[in-house]
Amino acid sequence: MFDTLLNYDFSEVEKVCLDLGEPKFRAKQIFEGVYSGKKISEISNISKALKEKLLERFVDTPISLHTKLIGKDGTIKYVYKLADNNIVEGVFMSYKYGNTLCVSTQVGCRMGCKFCASTLGGLIRNLTAGEILAQVLFVNRDNGGDLKNRKVTNVVLMGSGEPLDNYDNVIKFFNLVSAENGINISQRNISLSTCGLVPQIRQMAELNLQITLTISLHAPNDEMRKKIMPIANKYSLKELIDAVKFYFNKTKRRIVFEYSLISGENDSFYCADELSKLLKGLACHVNLIPLNEVKERGMTGTNRKKAYAFADRLEKNGISATVRRTMGADIEGACGQLRAKILKNEEV
Ligand code: SAH
Repeated sequence: MFDTLLNYDFSEVEKVCLDLGEPKFRAKQIFEGVYSGKKISEISNISKALKEKLLERFVDTPISLHTKLIGKDGTIKYVYKLADNNIVEGVFMSYKYGNTLCVSTQVGCRMGCKFCASTLGGLIRNLTAGEILAQVLFVNRDNGGDLKNRKVTNVVLMGSGEPLDNYDNVIKFFNLVSAENGINISQRNISLSTCGLVPQIRQMAELNLQITLTISLHAPNDEMRKKIMPIANKYSLKELIDAVKFYFNKTKRRIVFEYSLISGENDSFYCADELSKLLKGLACHVNLIPLNEVKERGMTGTNRKKAYAFADRLEKNGISATVRRTMGADIEGACGQLRAKILKNEEV
């Protein structure tokens, strides 16, 4: 009922054209139209009759803008409305070397991490590949980009949802977003972040994709991890690290670990030393992020001085680490925060 043309690759759009009794070459006009971020109704070089035929089968656009907030540091937070009126969010960050868009993969999330706002209302539904792609195309256009002059150069799957809990759609998204005749974002510029679904990490390793695998670790041992991440009850750190090694051996892509520093919980030197032991010998990098406080969760972030000391300790132990800038803190930058606020009818 809510199918979007963005769920189809170029050859499939050609088939759609033939199905509709149109010549195959129309596919190029349609494909380029929707990939430049336009709604079907906005594509100017196809006939009204063809648009009507397409609109009988597909939604005009899978996402539209609900809210846009621009932070002091230039970070842009987007809330999009889906065709079924659900909302998801994204963040667009500009760096010297390019612009990164953080996309959502599910409406809500069922992983239950204790510090995260995205999971507060549970999982509503998976996003389709086209709905994930639509976020990239929408923001690219909103920032003045098109297919030739891309404004979104990097994509991270770090918005709401657990990407590996929506495996098939996410893999399809990787293929669509990196297709040469589409927006053509190199897989090397894409990161998938997961709380650690071990079987899917192994499954993905077999595909030999070039994306960066990012693991949300947040604790140096099982006991502590279980307190904040329910997934730790299902897979031990040993199983997780083994799967990560498998991914590295298959793809030769360095692994990134995310570690949110929570004051008094996981930010001691003892934790840094344990973390170093856990990661010893792995081709990896640790991103430290002081927790972005979520009101509902009653946890606070480590101060920056202590975060740098934690990073130094890791470096001394031979583990590469950086403290990430917290971008967009003034606009509810962290995972799911803005959506949670909107759903509660709070002022944004
Ligand atoms: N489900 C995936 C994708 C979400 S990515 C995952 O778990 O990796 C978002 C990243 O931000 C994850 O590392 C997540 O653990 C982290 N995160 C969530 N809420 C946060 C918060 N309030 N402060 C800092 N990091 C947070």
